[in-house]
Amino acid sequence: MSPQPYIVCPKCGMVSHNPNDVRERYCGNCHGFHIDLLKPGYWMNETGGELVLAMHRYLKGQPLTLRDISLIGAYIRQWIESPVWEQNPHMDDAGREGLAALRVTAAARFLTNRKAIDAWMAMAEDFGVDPL
Ligand SMILES: [Zn+2]
Repeated sequence: MSPQPYIVCPKCGMVSHNPNDVRERYCGNCHGFHIDLLKPGYWMNETGGELVLAMHRYLKGQPLTLRDISLIGAYIRQWIESPVWEQNPHMDDAGREGLAALRVTAAARFLTNRKAIDAWMAMAEDFGVDPL
């Protein structure tokens, strides 16, 4: 007997043996195709509201609350943690190091104010990615 094929969702880790899921690479738990689940979420597509308001304040240069900063930081982290950034076949060692640096510096203990967020955004721009 051959082992049953299965897939593991890259987002939630759910294992599925459902032949349709395996063929389509679909996650019934996330209700999405794996290829879409791997993409980083962009704040403009958020429907929660709070992050969108925080991003508008950030982009307009208005004062940010601590809550705004933590929301923006969490947004940056989910964005840069997306596995999509590693899937560039042309990425060299310098590219991998740059990506690793962006992930390390996105930690909550570093992104504590607007200046730190600005600096991180500038680093991302240098690296060629833009979460805004
Ligand atoms: Zn899933």
